[in-house]
Amino acid sequence: MDSIISVKNVTYEYKDEDNAVTAVKDLSLNIERGSFTVILGHNGSGKSTLAKMLNGLNKPTSGDIFVDGINTKDEQNEIEVKRKVGMVFQNPDNQIIASIVEEDVAFGPENLGVPPKEIKERVDDALKAVDMLEYKDSTPHRLSGGQKQRIAIAGIIAMSPQCLVLDEPTAMLDPKGRAEIIETLIRLNKEKGITVVLITHYMEEAQNADRVLVMNDGEIIADDKPKVIFSDVERLKKVGLDVPQTAELLYNLKKNGFNVDTHALSIKEAADEIIRALHSEE
Ligand code: ADP
Ligand code: MG
Repeated sequence: MDSIISVKNVTYEYKDEDNAVTAVKDLSLNIERGSFTVILGHNGSGKSTLAKMLNGLNKPTSGDIFVDGINTKDEQNEIEVKRKVGMVFQNPDNQIIASIVEEDVAFGPENLGVPPKEIKERVDDALKAVDMLEYKDSTPHRLSGGQKQRIAIAGIIAMSPQCLVLDEPTAMLDPKGRAEIIETLIRLNKEKGITVVLITHYMEEAQNADRVLVMNDGEIIADDKPKVIFSDVERLKKVGLDVPQTAELLYNLKKNGFNVDTHALSIKEAADEIIRALHSEE
């Protein structure tokens, strides 16, 4: 596999005078270049701690993380790592600094010392990529949550990262805003080849991923294609996760002796599978 990120036996410990929490435990993982990975896990399972390590915001207590071959631990690699892996957080309001959209998106490349002429190009490209070019001269605070979050993503894209790590970017958005973000991420992944690592607690956002990782108590307890992950309803429930309604329905039908394949995930697939099973029972 051609890995953009390689996590090798990484442990992360939060420590103060009276106590220590091991948030990530001897975790190893490779993220394939150009892939779309979703990380699921209930609160406190270590997702954010891991995410912050992927772009060097957190340094492993032990073990190593390589981004495009360079170790995040070495101080001299810090800017290079941040340039390669862009982070997007939950609250768009905390990520938007300027009072004009265009200026906000320009902020990142300006800091990287990109020449002014190229900045303009990058800003336009990034705004186009998140479908917000027409709001170039707008004031960010007038925009919807989904639009603001897309501006935050554009600000990262303008720095030309190879990988985007997003820590619950849709948690504060309404369903429309959430859908806009997921569509944007799918497009950035497919059309620009940007590697996406998306942390979410919305199961439906994992359906389009190439790969789903489930974290529990600082470890990865499942790593597979979405269909396989969601067909194991019992495992998901055991670690406190919701299950997509389609998966739950098929699971219950099967448990009650109805011979369905539980791997169908979209509503259409699930409906087709139930119809197929009904006919085959005749
Ligand atoms: P998640 O993002 O999956 O909710 P986190 O990575 O935020 O999980 O947290 C993992 C564990 O680390 C939890 O037990 C949490 O309480 C602890 N933790 C997170 N941040 C800190 C911190 N700044 N100081 C001490 N403990 C922390
Ligand atoms: Mg978190």
